[in-house]
Amino acid sequence: MKTMTEMTPVTQAATDATPVKMPALPDAQTVTGVKHWTDRLFSFRVTRPQTLRFRSGEFVMIGLLGDNGKPLLRAYSIASPAWDDELEFYSIKVQDGPLTSKLQHIEPGDQIILRPKPVGTLVHDALLPGHRIWFFATGTGFAPFASLLREPQTYEDYDEIIITHTCRDVAELEYGRQLIESLKSDEMMIELLGRENLDKIRYYPTTTREQSPRMGRITNLLKDGTVFADLGIDPINPATDRAMVCGSLGFNVDLKEILEGFGLREGANSDPKEYVVEKAFVG
Ligand SMILES: Cc1cc2nc3c(=O)[nH]c(=O)nc-3n(C[C@H](O)[C@H](O)[C@H](O)COP(=O)(O)OP(=O)(O)OC[C@H]3O[C@@H](n4cnc5c(N)ncnc54)[C@H](O)[C@@H]3O)c2cc1C
Repeated sequence: MKTMTEMTPVTQAATDATPVKMPALPDAQTVTGVKHWTDRLFSFRVTRPQTLRFRSGEFVMIGLLGDNGKPLLRAYSIASPAWDDELEFYSIKVQDGPLTSKLQHIEPGDQIILRPKPVGTLVHDALLPGHRIWFFATGTGFAPFASLLREPQTYEDYDEIIITHTCRDVAELEYGRQLIESLKSDEMMIELLGRENLDKIRYYPTTTREQSPRMGRITNLLKDGTVFADLGIDPINPATDRAMVCGSLGFNVDLKEILEGFGLREGANSDPKEYVVEKAFVG
């Protein structure tokens, strides 16, 4: 794939005979790595603008130059934690999607556009203190939790961290599964987050189509109590439990109803409560 239009900055050319290629767009970042997980999912890393500060769990607008020469941008959760030198993203490949039909072909050295204005509700600030936190994800909704699972504050704030991830097929769980596995085996992560802290993670993957050890929608498994029985814990309780939800609109609506049934109230940055929700995509 071609990189964005490149140019030689005037100041550099005046002082140095070697032309230095610079991004033509101020918000261009360079791709440093790409990994394809399935024919519908990939993750990639890009350079991080020095000035970009964000809270783990937030999202930014990223994209490419469209055919009309204008930026074609979409919302993306930052999958890397706030302390990381680079930024990581976990993406769908929509075959006829305006952005991802092209974005899926990026390679190291290519450039993407990244607007450095992070926002979002899946942040610790939007929740009241609690004992146990639930991260409920479907599909690429795992991305903000990939950030929060690598965020030290998650382990400072909670004694137990339950991450549920529901996908159609087993291969679609792999990005999340490998990430959690690497947290527990990577020396740098163990040193940063603490071995006993990493033992707080309870991973609960489910599939809805392909056979796997735990089948079914998490919404149904919550409603019939299977999750609590499997994990050997009491049901969700507003005195102790906090939750973050990231999935399709339908998933989020269903889960909101379930969480409110347990007595949790929806929070926001300006009004922290017991649970927060963000769409993993629109449509
Ligand atoms: C707050 C927020 C955060 C987001 N974070 C991510 C992220 O971390 N990773 C990511 O891949 N996408 C994320 N998205 C979706 C993303 O903004 C784009 O929709 C996606 O990249 C596809 O872009 P597109 O132009 O190819 O197709 P679009 O025209 O944007 O989408 C076409 C159709 O594809 C489907 N679709 C789009 N995105 C997804 C998805 N992620 N999973 C399943 N189906 C989808 C929908 O049915 C949509 O109508 C996020 C969206 C929002 C609102």
